[in-house]
Amino acid sequence: MEQRLKAVWQRIEAAAAKSGRSKDEVRLVAVSKTVPIQKIERAVSAGVTIIGENYIQEAREKFHQLYEMPVSWHFIGHLQRNKARHAVEMFDLIHSVDSLRLAVEIDKQAHKIDKIQEVLIQVNLAGEATKSGTSIAAASDLIREAAHLEYVSIKGLMTMPPFFNAPERVRPYFRQLRQMRDDLRAQGIPGIEMTELSMGMTGDFEVAVQEGATLVRIGTAIFGERR
Ligand SMILES: *Cc1c(COP(=O)(O)O)cnc(C)c1O
Repeated sequence: MEQRLKAVWQRIEAAAAKSGRSKDEVRLVAVSKTVPIQKIERAVSAGVTIIGENYIQEAREKFHQLYEMPVSWHFIGHLQRNKARHAVEMFDLIHSVDSLRLAVEIDKQAHKIDKIQEVLIQVNLAGEATKSGTSIAAASDLIREAAHLEYVSIKGLMTMPPFFNAPERVRPYFRQLRQMRDDLRAQGIPGIEMTELSMGMTGDFEVAVQEGATLVRIGTAIFGERR
């Protein structure tokens, strides 16, 4: 696993260099769904600084066992409103906000513990019925409205494009997400930052880095195939 992690970092650095970026502009989220605690501990010892989890219940068990580890927790799965409280308690960044109702609930829960919850807006670029995410058309209104929430801070966009593991076919989607981010940033919506782009997984992260990813979410290339 340590070797695989090293290889991933090298590939990120090479992809960044290829597009004139610094590797420091790209943060690695080690996606640890179904990965046992011991392996996550090893990854953190080997230098992983961000863990990505998909399921609240699984994350809670791990969080309680690993809370002393110097690592940041990101939520990357689909978040149900009735789990927002737990998400706000554990995660430094929630990648998957896709409705105003969810954003409002996160705001309410964050207010209770006096936290500013950082989030990304998940965009469903190809309008796939099987995937979460706001439509491109609805994204701008969602962001404008969520920008008013006092305890939610919008940091950027996230996507899960179609054809994952087919890097050149997903490149246009990554490019589109970056364009969206840049357009939103140019609109100067008060109260939002729009710096982050969470895109790229095991099969396509190098292309995502070339297209401007600031957060890549990688599981299999680090931990091996999931059970
Ligand atoms: C599982 C998952 C990943 C990581 O996928 P790999 O192909 O194993 O790298 C990234 N993002 C999300 C949202 C996931 O659910």
